[in-house]
Amino acid sequence: MKAYNQQRAEMVSRQLRGRGIRDQRVLQAMLEVPRHEFVAPEFRHQAYDDRPLPIGAGQTISQPYMVAIMTESLGLRGHEKVLEIGTGSGYQAAVLARLAARVYTIERERELVDTARGILGRLAEAGLLELSRLELIEGDGTEGYAAAAPYDGILVAAAAPSVPRALEEQLAEGGRLVIPVGNLDYQQLRLIRRVSGQLAASVVNECRFVPLVGRHGWPA
Ligand code: SAH
Repeated sequence: MKAYNQQRAEMVSRQLRGRGIRDQRVLQAMLEVPRHEFVAPEFRHQAYDDRPLPIGAGQTISQPYMVAIMTESLGLRGHEKVLEIGTGSGYQAAVLARLAARVYTIERERELVDTARGILGRLAEAGLLELSRLELIEGDGTEGYAAAAPYDGILVAAAAPSVPRALEEQLAEGGRLVIPVGNLDYQQLRLIRRVSGQLAASVVNECRFVPLVGRHGWPA
């Protein structure tokens, strides 16, 4: 089997650059964050495949391309405060923490919160992550996280039936919200920007995510 760094370099060049991801900072972050550390040992050999993978609690780590296009859509330059809904494995949060000043990430499944905390802690010890930039919160992200609002970027990593009002309200002027909206089988990835106080939406692509479960999402 090829070394993980080589698999990761191929993932970046074929699945990301090859499909139109252009933001150098996003490509570099995904070249550096060891995705195989975020999956259980029995899935490590598939960690760089072009697909989502199981992470426990019936959830998945998103396909690398989805992580890249969602992250690129936020247009991060380094000074931003970002909110992620659906920490899952912690992989997307680790990528965001390399690209923004501060990242808040919320997960509703305690088992996943605990696992992600362990993985992110080990990465920080290895010098691959600045833990002071990252806050992991257990809770229902459909209410956003008012304590640290407003956010320059909000990334929702689960499928919403509609855009939760709180997330729009917690978006800063000039901020961007990226969220899959649709039914349980199929969603549109929407990019919503707040420009001069008004919200403007566009569709990035089509996707399929696990459900966003909560007060302003799907019922449990
Ligand atoms: N970003 C993750 C992938 C997440 S999959 C990664 O990089 O691995 C979507 C996650 O959203 C699941 O872990 C699920 O438990 C979580 N989730 C679903 N509804 C949620 C809610 N209302 N608040 C917080 N997390 C939620």
